[in-house]
Amino acid sequence: MKVNLQYNTKESLLALYNKPLLELVFEAATIHREFHDSREVQMASLLSIKTGGCAEDCGYCPQAARYHTDVEAQKLMTVESVLEQARNAKENGSSRLCMGAAWREVRDNRDFDNVVEMVQGVNDLGMEVCCTLGMMNENQAERLKKAGLFAYNHNLDTSKDYYDDVISTRDYEDRLDTIENARKAGISVCSGGIIGMGEAIEDRIGLLMSYVEMKTPPESIPINALVAVEGTPMEDQKPIEQWEMIRMVATTRIAFPMSVVRLSAGRTMMNMEGQALCFMAGASSIFAGDKLLTTPNPDYNEDMEMFKILGLTPKAAFSDGEQPVTEPDPILIERKRKEAERAQKLTEARAKIKDDSFQPRKVTVAE
Ligand code: SF4
Repeated sequence: MKVNLQYNTKESLLALYNKPLLELVFEAATIHREFHDSREVQMASLLSIKTGGCAEDCGYCPQAARYHTDVEAQKLMTVESVLEQARNAKENGSSRLCMGAAWREVRDNRDFDNVVEMVQGVNDLGMEVCCTLGMMNENQAERLKKAGLFAYNHNLDTSKDYYDDVISTRDYEDRLDTIENARKAGISVCSGGIIGMGEAIEDRIGLLMSYVEMKTPPESIPINALVAVEGTPMEDQKPIEQWEMIRMVATTRIAFPMSVVRLSAGRTMMNMEGQALCFMAGASSIFAGDKLLTTPNPDYNEDMEMFKILGLTPKAAFSDGEQPVTEPDPILIERKRKEAERAQKLTEARAKIKDDSFQPRKVTVAE
């Protein structure tokens, strides 16, 4: 049951969201136990592989170049440093790595080749690999799938009605197209939203309705609370109450019984009791590590302590789907061949210069 047919209209979902809190949590917990192991919570790591300088204008995002925030634009990380971070994340218990690049869209260039190589490398480590790289076309999705990409994240953020109050540089349809491209390539979809951006409760329901209306809803639905960052248009938004996160998590759990609901940004604004109710209500993933792209997140030891107190265990990779097989990438192979050829020629040229028998041409300089 991918969509709960009892709650597949705006009215029924709204009534569900507004139920007395403990009844809502109980209903969500019951459904959660039917479809998932309630003691398992996945630890995922989110790594910003290309930070800042983004051309988009998402009103919540400190990485948009147009806002005056502390985030400095950086180049794409190297493949080696990403793999090193992935190994560290795995050692610390993460079974999924989400790599985020502050791009409007994927471009077919050297940077994308490098991302393909990162995906191959992380998949080879036995971790679920997720990417969030902005808009992408069908060919790019195919290439990522063959590299071993497990999931593609592309959040709808909010309802179609409220979307224009948040972003103006691309529209809702663009987002739906990218999700569809991931789907066509056979990549599992991760897509969710942010609450606390000044939206009405109806917009939270509207977001969920967008997923109800899809042929296949996302396998993974992250629920974020806005972390208001100075310098962004949303800097003055008041933090939401944790009860609202619990309601949103529980409603999502009930509406999409088989999806993984991820308790994502905003955990620093919640206490352990609030997070415990989210786990009770069906959240089965958190992001581990003290940074979520560029905003703060509870540190690793704090989360381990919470797992101990609540009796939770980290979920293994590929519990919700098979590990993709990495196939050779012809573009990457050709690029490496050319690079090796150039390096070889350079080595030979250097060796010649050092060779005593090599006689450089005599050059006569006119007076
Ligand atoms: S959310 Fe993504 S697309 Fe939007 S401004 Fe930030 S980095 Fe760019």
